[in-house]
Amino acid sequence: MQPGMKSEGPAASADFSGTIPYIDPHVHMADLGWDSLEMMGIGGMAAAVNPMARPDVVIKKRSGAFDADDILRCWDHMLWLAERFEKTFFYKVYVALSWGSNSRIHDADRLHRAIADYLKHGRVVAVGELGLDPYQWSTTVSQAESEAIIAEQLALAKDLGVPVILHTPMLKSTVHYIEGPRLPEGSPPWPFKVSTAKRTFAIAERVGLDHSQVVIDHSDNDLIRWALENTKAYVAISGACVWRGIAPWQAAQWVKTYGPERIMVNSDAHQHLSMDALWLPRTIREMRRVGLDDATIRRVVYENPKNFYRLSV
Ligand SMILES: [Zn+2]
Repeated sequence: MQPGMKSEGPAASADFSGTIPYIDPHVHMADLGWDSLEMMGIGGMAAAVNPMARPDVVIKKRSGAFDADDILRCWDHMLWLAERFEKTFFYKVYVALSWGSNSRIHDADRLHRAIADYLKHGRVVAVGELGLDPYQWSTTVSQAESEAIIAEQLALAKDLGVPVILHTPMLKSTVHYIEGPRLPEGSPPWPFKVSTAKRTFAIAERVGLDHSQVVIDHSDNDLIRWALENTKAYVAISGACVWRGIAPWQAAQWVKTYGPERIMVNSDAHQHLSMDALWLPRTIREMRRVGLDDATIRRVVYENPKNFYRLSV
C-alpha cells in the first residue's frame, strides 16, 4: 500500500476464524420449529440446555394441582426430544428438570425420589428454572406458596449437589405476547426484576446452596451489576425473545463492561412469541465488533456453561 493510503477492510489483527462454536445454556426447545432448530446448528450451536419452566403451559393445565405422573411425562418427553434433536440437528442436548415455580403437586414425594434417579441420566444437568415472577403467579398459587414450591426444589438441588437456574422476571409486552401480561392485584409496579431476583436468591441462600451452584438468569444491566457485586453466582443474559428488548450489541457491550469471568449468554428462545433463532451467534459477532478477542468470547459462550453445568462436550 502507498504511504498515507487509508487501509480498507479488516485490520491485520482481525480474527478470520469464522463461526465460533457456542453452547446455549437456556433454550426451550420443546416447541421450537424445525427451521429454528436447524438455524441454531448452522449458527454454530454445539450444545444446548433445555430447562423445564412451566408444566402448566406445556400440558395446558391452568388450574388445580398436578399429579406426579403429569410432571414425569413432561420430563420423559424432554429426554425423548433431546435424543431425537441430537440425531437430527447434530448438537448435544441436555435438560434441566423442575416442576416449575407455581405448580402444586398431589404427591411431590414421588418427584423427590424420581429426580435423584433422573439426575443420574447423563443428559440431566441441573434443577430449574425456578424463580419468583409476578407475571407468573396464577390465581391458584400465592406468592408465599410459590416461595415454598421453589424452596422445596432448591433444597433438593442442594442435597443432590447440582447446579440451579434461577429465573427472574421481565416486562412483557402486550403486543408481542399472545396472552398479554397478567399482573395479579397488588403487584409491585415495574421495574421489579432486581427486587424479585434478590428475593429468589435469598431462598437459594436459605436452603444453603453454594453461590457457585447458582446462575441468576435473564439479567439486565442492573441485575448483572447487583449479582456481580453482591454474590459469587454466575449471571446470564437472555435475548432472543423480542419483548426482552436486548439487542446483540447491547449484550456484547455488557460482556465488555463486566468481563467474562461469571457471565453467560443464552437465547431463552421459545416459540409462543417472536424470537430470533440467530440471536446468540449475532451476539458473538457483536462481541467481536466491540473488540473482544476469541479467547474471551469462548469463555463466555462455551467454557462458562460447560464448566457450570459440567457438560461432557
Ligand atoms: Zn426460560
